[in-house]
Amino acid sequence: MGYGDDEKSEDYLFKVVLIGDSAVGKSNLLSRYARNEFHLNSKATIGVEFQTQSMEIDNKEIKAQIWDTAGQERFRAVTSAYYRGAVGALVVYDISRRSTFENVSKWLDELRMHSDASVVTMLVGNKCDLHNARDIPTEEGTALAERESLFFIETSALDATNVNKAFQTVVKEIYRIVS
Ligand code: GDP
Ligand code: MG
Repeated sequence: MGYGDDEKSEDYLFKVVLIGDSAVGKSNLLSRYARNEFHLNSKATIGVEFQTQSMEIDNKEIKAQIWDTAGQERFRAVTSAYYRGAVGALVVYDISRRSTFENVSKWLDELRMHSDASVVTMLVGNKCDLHNARDIPTEEGTALAERESLFFIETSALDATNVNKAFQTVVKEIYRIVS
């Protein structure tokens, strides 16, 4: 192996967690990103603990291990093990359901209680394809993100808008911090 190969084989593995209320689209954001799949009926989705997705930055392989809740959030039982070691988080709400936006602060509290203050956090307003049902204006998402010092993006797991960008922005920022 030459020096170039050695350098290339230097790996990074970042744990990123998905949090947010039930049915906001967390599992579909992950399946869209990792497998380019969308499921209309989420019950058909087989719950997986996490998916690993690679990207290349600076000629290095960066792996993101993205954790999904597999439904525990319904019972308010997302455990500390879920957050342990996380360096990134996507806090997801549904732009058509105000209660999910109001619960964002609750999820942020839980995240901050269980993880390092430096965890790179992206506020994600999902289901932006539902134009007629929109309940949370984009400006409200932006304002909350500014107040809480979060990245912000609106996505659609259904039509794939900004899904790659959401995950990639978080991973790039983590890499920027640690490298
Ligand atoms: P989770 O409970 O947060 O993991 O949410 P799911 O990924 O299981 O999605 C809940 C429901 O919302 C399912 O019926 C999905 O098909 C639907 N859904 C997820 N993402 C989107 C989206 O971007 N747009 C629309 N219109 N529906 C979505
Ligand atoms: Mg789910």
